[in-house]
Amino acid sequence: MTETSGKRTGGCMCGAVRYETAGEPFGVIHCHCHSCRKHNGGPLVTLAGFTADQVAYSGEARKIYQSSPGVGRAFCGTCGTPLTWEGDGGELGPIVEFHISTFDDPDGLVPEAHAFYPERLPWMDTADGLPRHEGFTEDSPVLRHGPADQGLPGG
Ligand SMILES: [Zn+2]
Ligand SMILES: [Zn+2]
Repeated sequence: MTETSGKRTGGCMCGAVRYETAGEPFGVIHCHCHSCRKHNGGPLVTLAGFTADQVAYSGEARKIYQSSPGVGRAFCGTCGTPLTWEGDGGELGPIVEFHISTFDDPDGLVPEAHAFYPERLPWMDTADGLPRHEGFTEDSPVLRHGPADQGLPGG
């Protein structure tokens, strides 16, 4: 933690695990991938990504489930709140992406893109004009901007 500006705080539902971030995230994205949806239980997740050195924890230690080699998905061992995706960010080094609604005030963290759009639930889309990427937002094709152009099942 070297920066003091742009400090944000967050934590789990019961308050046992608390965290603080310094500075701005390198990205805020919606992820539609199966693993993120499974971890979170919702139809998509929205993640704000920081380098590990922007992040400090307090309170109880978070529990980490290794969902694949080098990828941890953290949660509170008391209340079960899903907290992070964490792992290797390539050129960024170790990164921590927080589930957006675990921030105390997530309003200023605005999504910029959708990742793994083809893995979405077929009825799930949002009415923004953001790019829909085939995979990771850094290195996969943009399939479209904006919601499904054929409409949604049942829509
Ligand atoms: Zn908790
Ligand atoms: Zn994902």
